[in-house]
Amino acid sequence: MAGETGPPRGQRTGFAGVTMMDQLLLLALAVAALVGILASLSILRRDRPGQESPFAASTEGEKRCPNCGMGNLWTDARCVSCGADLPG
Ligand SMILES: [Zn+2]
Repeated sequence: MAGETGPPRGQRTGFAGVTMMDQLLLLALAVAALVGILASLSILRRDRPGQESPFAASTEGEKRCPNCGMGNLWTDARCVSCGADLPG
């Protein structure tokens, strides 16, 4: 026991060991959750082939008012909200 620089009692080592285990467990859970989220995101991204469409789905059947941003029908010549002339 001449060159021993550790704690005189085993109490500190035991407490530190438990803390380290908890930290490792939390780290493992965090990594596992992160991997799961990343995997889900990549799967969701792969399942969307229509993402490259030049026309956004939300603007289909309507045109945005350049003045107020209100969505109007394609048949409308004027904005239903502010009355501005609609392009097209
Ligand atoms: Zn408008």
